[in-house]
Amino acid sequence: MIRTILLKNRPEGKPTPSDFEFVTDDVDLNIDAGELLLETAYVSVDPYLRGRMSDTKSYVPPFELNKPIQSGVIAKVLESKNEKLKVGDFVSGMLDWKTKQVSSGEGLIKVDGSKAPLSAYLGILGMTGLTAYVGLTQIGKPKSGETLVVSGAAGAVGSVVGQIGKILGLTVIGIAGSDEKVQLLKSKFGFDAGINYNTTENMTAAIAEAAPNGVDIYFDNVGGPISDAVLFNINQFARLIICGAISVYNNTELPKSISVQPFLIKNSALMQGFIVSNYAEIFPEAIKQLSTWLAEGKLTYTETVVNGFDEIPNAFIDLFEGKNKGKMVVKI
Ligand code: NDP
Repeated sequence: MIRTILLKNRPEGKPTPSDFEFVTDDVDLNIDAGELLLETAYVSVDPYLRGRMSDTKSYVPPFELNKPIQSGVIAKVLESKNEKLKVGDFVSGMLDWKTKQVSSGEGLIKVDGSKAPLSAYLGILGMTGLTAYVGLTQIGKPKSGETLVVSGAAGAVGSVVGQIGKILGLTVIGIAGSDEKVQLLKSKFGFDAGINYNTTENMTAAIAEAAPNGVDIYFDNVGGPISDAVLFNINQFARLIICGAISVYNNTELPKSISVQPFLIKNSALMQGFIVSNYAEIFPEAIKQLSTWLAEGKLTYTETVVNGFDEIPNAFIDLFEGKNKGKMVVKI
């Protein structure tokens, strides 16, 4: 028996469980030469999947209606006619939301569960860790002594950005959605200060207070009013790294934002968006560095692990409610 999750409707605003459909097939999967039979072990749910659920032009094509959704998956090889992988190996790759599936092996990377927990290859040693590393180092170009502000700071990307900032000698301020998360930023991830945007009336003033020397680097995971407030605090030659804009992903109308141009002009500041996959040439260096920092205990991580294939859509929806700390993964 194979279970699959299809995209039933393109969500209007925030996704709901009825946008997804579960189907069950009673078929035997057979593999041909070169192929693998995979069993899903962990599924990554990520905010960017929301973009693929809409029928709009982007850097990747939208999901098709009534077809399986795909995301980062860790899977176990159950059968192999592919010389590169053997039964019992674990792989990471972009795979369907299915309990079992056949793969040609293309795009799969073998992962070693004895070196790190398997789920870590979806987070700190996977896409979100790489996003933190490449965004901060390649666009942020941090210099020791500078001040870094991170939004979405207690999430998968943000919690790693802040820690790398500390390793590189920055003063790091995190913005997150609850007092518990702000506490976690300081106690577990070593941030110097944190701001709860849900209980702070004047974010511009709160950032000014937390960053008395101004903001040199802003790692933006959320966009919207939080990011507007950061703009009022940027320094000359600030770098604004535009990684994500989760606060507007579910908007049904164009957001009303302030004009960024005067802030950039007055401060000779750089604002640059990026997509992590465009930095593939530095992934080996990045993974080596992240693994070393992890082994040295300089870097740590948190996961919110949800159990069960049935819970994949809910775990995805919960990202927009801030229910995760660190990387949200579903264990099958
Ligand atoms: P997270 O683990 O940070 O999860 C999402 C978090 O966003 C929630 O926990 C919540 O935390 C916060 N959030 C939800 N709604 C809002 C809102 N309206 N306003 C402010 N914060 C909100 O996700 P990731 O770390 O995986 O991704 C972070 C960002 O980076 C996303 O925007 C994502 O799209 C982007 N991204 C971009 C990539 C790229 O290549 N450019 C690659 C990977 C991710 P809280 O409780 O603090 O509100």
